[in-house]
Amino acid sequence: MKSESSIQAEKVHSPEVPVLRNLIGGEWIDSSKAETFEVTNPATGETIAKAQNSSLEDAKRAVDLADDCRENPNWVMNPKARAVALYKLADLMEGQRDALGRLLTLECGKPLKQAKGEIDASIDTLRYNAGFARNIRGESFSMTQGSYSVVMREPMGVVGHIVPWNVPVLLLFRGMATSLAAGNICIVKPASFTPLTTARIIELATKIPEIPRGVLSFITGPGSIIGAEIVSSPKVDMISFTGDANTGREILKLSANNVKKLALELGGKSPDVVFADADQEKAVAGALSGAFTHSGQICFAATRLLVHKQIHEKFVATLKQKAQSMRVGNGLDETSELGPIISGSQMKTVLKYIEEGKSEGELVTGGTRLTTGELGRGNFIAPTVFDNVPTKARIAQEEIFGPVVVVIPFDTEEEAVRVANDSPYGLAAAVWTRDIKTAFGFARKVRAGTVWVNAYGKTFPEAEFGGYKQSGIGRERGLEGLHEYTQLKHVYFEL
Ligand code: NDP
Repeated sequence: MKSESSIQAEKVHSPEVPVLRNLIGGEWIDSSKAETFEVTNPATGETIAKAQNSSLEDAKRAVDLADDCRENPNWVMNPKARAVALYKLADLMEGQRDALGRLLTLECGKPLKQAKGEIDASIDTLRYNAGFARNIRGESFSMTQGSYSVVMREPMGVVGHIVPWNVPVLLLFRGMATSLAAGNICIVKPASFTPLTTARIIELATKIPEIPRGVLSFITGPGSIIGAEIVSSPKVDMISFTGDANTGREILKLSANNVKKLALELGGKSPDVVFADADQEKAVAGALSGAFTHSGQICFAATRLLVHKQIHEKFVATLKQKAQSMRVGNGLDETSELGPIISGSQMKTVLKYIEEGKSEGELVTGGTRLTTGELGRGNFIAPTVFDNVPTKARIAQEEIFGPVVVVIPFDTEEEAVRVANDSPYGLAAAVWTRDIKTAFGFARKVRAGTVWVNAYGKTFPEAEFGGYKQSGIGRERGLEGLHEYTQLKHVYFEL
């Protein structure tokens, strides 16, 4: 069935619930299975949309039609049109910024202010990358008399963007804005929990004449079928994936057969290190936002808080008092500081870690599901702090993806570095100190892709982001991010 819209009211079953469609080959279509799945609001448990439960055949068709576009000269050979397209998409999103933010809160639960901030950051990312589109350059040189070499930077081709649910819009655009700027053909597979805002934005993109039909596809359905097919297909040149480290490992295996280029951003267990000379007020504020923004469902969440023994007791007391005063509630309520956990099963996982943590460290505050009044309809957990946690404890080693922070006291700079590095992950780290030598020494020795000094969680389209160790492969954002989505070709001329 064809339509000009991504979202149509389903006439038969439930008129109020929108039904998302796939965008394949430039047409909004239903899955060949004619099946949908439900998208729910994690704050209330209500169904807010349905999306196509696509089949393997749908995925193959999306890949085939994307492959047909790879030489489209109006896109691949037209950087100016790509720049215009990205600027136009940014403008269209800006025009709907509040509505998009609201949708994002509805489907993934984060407080409205954070959701609108995510839309703003995505718009900024689009504009930054629009500038790149017209600045992709190669080199030329001569090695011998009568010969000439040109090294050109070409798009990768067809890129599969497989996106998680925690930051569904920004994590799509931090890769896809670059991918489009570089002239790639993009297939978007959103997380099954959060396809709604992305569908709206893709629909906006279809209104832009500079984006030829077929350059952008959107397909929903289980990652293990749709995502896996995009990853396995020899017609897809690159995968940009953010999500669970185990899924990342599966993607490595699936893509091995055709030796595909991968940009993987996986989990984290980021250390946030507070030295005795730090501005403690700022460090506490940073620890709270680092650990509890989006209820800890952020890859770079500050989940291991290393505090110098000299200030430890007072610091934890302040942290406890501030954590207890944080408002947990429906993200649509402007006063909420923490929203729900994405799903019932994820909430159970977090609560299980908390139970186990009670025998590994001292529970300072939180540690329970919140069920009073309206909260009982959703998946809410109180901000949780554990103190005096051994560095080898499970809650200090594994990515919990909930509002849980573990405090580990330390004595010396060497100990802080050793504990900070005692993790399979290396996504981000922070250090709080007034001493530049301590700050630089820690930044140099910690094995993490991003280090914040006297700050937490600041990311920018200009600055490369990615992981050391098991936190991933490659870098998104910045010039290196652009290079990830291109490949070099050497053309040798004998004259
Ligand atoms: P996943 O890694 O499973 O999902 C991320 C994306 O990958 C989704 O679009 C998913 O589709 C897709 N996917 C799943 N399986 C495959 C596959 N075999 N091949 C290709 N694509 C696939 O994360 P979850 O949503 O299941 O979250 C589980 C845990 O992962 C969380 O509890 C958290 O610890 C961690 N996580 C980490 C994130 C980070 O930023 N580091 C982000 C999100 C989660 P579908 O949604 O349809 O399954």
